[in-house]
Amino acid sequence: MKIENPNPIQWQFSERAQGLQSSFIREILKITQRPEIISFAGGLPSPATFPVERMKAAYDKVLSETGKVALQYGPTDGYAPLREWIANSLSTEGTKILPEQIMMVSGSQQALDLIGKVLIDEGSRVLVETPSYLGALQAFSVYRPEFASVETDDDGLVPSSIEGVAKGARLLYALPNFQNPTGRSLSLARRQELVETCARLQLPLIEDDPYGALSYSGEPMPKLLSMNPDGVIYMGSFSKVLTPGIRLGYVCAPLPLVRRLELAKQAADLHTAQLTQMVVHEVVKDGFLDEHIPTIRTLYANQCQAMLDAMAEHFPAGVSWTKPEGGMFIWVTLPKSVDAMKLLDTAIASRVAFVPGAPFYANEGETNTLRLSFVTVPPERIREGIAILGKLIAAML
Ligand code: PMP
Repeated sequence: MKIENPNPIQWQFSERAQGLQSSFIREILKITQRPEIISFAGGLPSPATFPVERMKAAYDKVLSETGKVALQYGPTDGYAPLREWIANSLSTEGTKILPEQIMMVSGSQQALDLIGKVLIDEGSRVLVETPSYLGALQAFSVYRPEFASVETDDDGLVPSSIEGVAKGARLLYALPNFQNPTGRSLSLARRQELVETCARLQLPLIEDDPYGALSYSGEPMPKLLSMNPDGVIYMGSFSKVLTPGIRLGYVCAPLPLVRRLELAKQAADLHTAQLTQMVVHEVVKDGFLDEHIPTIRTLYANQCQAMLDAMAEHFPAGVSWTKPEGGMFIWVTLPKSVDAMKLLDTAIASRVAFVPGAPFYANEGETNTLRLSFVTVPPERIREGIAILGKLIAAML
């Protein structure tokens, strides 16, 4: 029987919970899901690329042939054949990655949380790019670090600026390929300088790489991991090359660290869904991604070009933007006098959405920047939305 409850609980949240904030992007997404809005705001991959039939066949196969194992609890570090497949795919001629270095996670977002849990104390210094991935800032913030911003320029992170802010730092979080939010990539020379600098400073280097496979042309750049496997923690994800709804990612780290991450994961959720891991292994093991990823690249490259062309036609003088060679995002810098938050208000009233740049900065941000995603909008809607944005920006000058 339900009791009388005249004195409801006055919730006293932990200090940690009091500091939690909703991601600005998730808030915008609530508005932009309205069908009349042309949304360049989401970081969502295009559902047109989801291999639904292939996944369905793999679920069927795994459940009918190995259902009893797939539906049981599994090991914390993950499904061994999938970890082996990942270790092979990350190994290069000079750098062999062992399956023991791989731990599966429930989306690479979980790796950010676990890394925060095992490496960050309250007040620890954490180095991030300017700007950086909002979800990482949010994940690390739970552990209440002091963020120090590493300089960036048109070519991405500037390695020579690390040393000046590195004193006492616990880690440097970097996105070398088609960065979220800017779409920029690091040159080979900068990669080398970055890895050498971190090694010299004994600074753990996190390489977050969900977009590396989505290069529109040319050979992929070498991973930072391959340049120093003892000092780099690599994070990979199936979200952008298969589907994000399965929540499957992985982390590759030196053995002492991966064992610590495993303890943290055990406490968090015991393990990532065994069924999901077995299905993904079934999908990828015979080279499916080699046929599938090029179809994603072609789609995104066309839509990226449509957006770049439309911007060249419709954006007023004084606006500049990045020209990504892969991934999902373009970063726009408006004239200093234009506040992207104010632009967003008028844009939403005109049925166009984007993400203002300010939330991507750990410290002092640039209010005249914004992020555009082109992957879920067809070219004719991209042209329409960019033309509207161009007019709104011009009206604010
Ligand atoms: N890192 C970056 C840079 C991202 O953009 C994202 C997703 N937007 C993630 C990590 C998290 O990806 P997931 O948890 O889906 O693997």
